[in-house]
Amino acid sequence: MMLAPYACDPEQSRGRQFTEVAAPTRTVFQRDRDRIVHSTAFRRLVYKTQVFLNHEGDLFRTRLTHSLEVAQLGRSVARSLSLNEDLVEAIALAHDLGHTPFGHAGQDALNDCMRDQGGFEHNLQSLRVVDHLEESYPQFNGINLSFETREGILKHCSRGNAQAMEAREPGGIGRRFLDGTQPSLEAQLCNLADEIAYNAHDIDDGVRSGLITMDQLQEVALFEDFHYQVLQEFPDLGTAQNQRRLLFATIRRMLSAQVYDLIAVSQAALEAASPQSPDAVRQLPPLLAFGGEMRRQSAQLKQFLFGNLYRHPQVMQTTGLAKQVVRELFDAYMAAPRELPANFGVGIDEARGREALVASPARVVADYIAGMTDRFAAREHERLTGLRLLG
Ligand code: MG
Repeated sequence: MMLAPYACDPEQSRGRQFTEVAAPTRTVFQRDRDRIVHSTAFRRLVYKTQVFLNHEGDLFRTRLTHSLEVAQLGRSVARSLSLNEDLVEAIALAHDLGHTPFGHAGQDALNDCMRDQGGFEHNLQSLRVVDHLEESYPQFNGINLSFETREGILKHCSRGNAQAMEAREPGGIGRRFLDGTQPSLEAQLCNLADEIAYNAHDIDDGVRSGLITMDQLQEVALFEDFHYQVLQEFPDLGTAQNQRRLLFATIRRMLSAQVYDLIAVSQAALEAASPQSPDAVRQLPPLLAFGGEMRRQSAQLKQFLFGNLYRHPQVMQTTGLAKQVVRELFDAYMAAPRELPANFGVGIDEARGREALVASPARVVADYIAGMTDRFAAREHERLTGLRLLG
């Protein structure tokens, strides 16, 4: 792999929190990726909601397939820009590890439950999973990832949380939110790959589910231009039995257009700024970006999905039930901590009187709930309340 001077070089990594002997055949970032793939939290992604609840259909994206799509998109852009593919892959595969069951509904409900305890934020939780919650190694909690992978996972962070992190880890990954500097290009790329991936697959899942239609999508320029183009080239795809091919061909072109735009615009910005190291990148404004027109079109698409899919009455109905499940689970464990599994129950006793963001009893309960898959949360809720709300 030929790396550009602005790409993260595993030989120059700022290293891990706990020093380890280097692996004989793998770089630091390859090893990070392997640790992520072998983690418990990663396996659970397969049963976690992206937009549709896990039990609503077998063909919709889950957090796992979403993460794989982000990794694939990210790697292919990284190769074009001579960035570090392994680092991009590690960040992409880990970026959603902290998601609660039931997607954003679960996160909102848990955040409400934790309002007086520093809140709950899935992005911060992804970091918490790899730093603290995985239980695999005898010497430390978490999976002890490199600075660069952790930096990429922590996409956003409030000032308050950044200050707390800086106090625990001076000059660490919280620092850039206080200094207003950027993360590595590999991290910047993962954010954009995430956006490209979900915009495309949410259209796909939305149309397949019947909640949105291709007719409605005509108001979205980015979709409609390619929809028109595909039909001009392949008029047969206009027939009812070819709708799936038409949808896929349109989304494929739409996705490619965004990727090529991102590569071209970013390539130009990199040439103009010509940073000579990843640290030089961190001091500059964001260098990876869409062009102005693509940014507008992507924003329009996002707005469409927000209004027509994420807020669809049918989605909102399950959203309401999912929130109730999370809230009632939280209350049940707080009232009866003995209902927690042994390793978490012990955690609650140790957690009393400690910093709320790190280890209060409520935080222990939030960690346990956040780790649940959709179906486990629904079953556990039924066990504790006698109510069957979902599935
Ligand atoms: Mg994502």
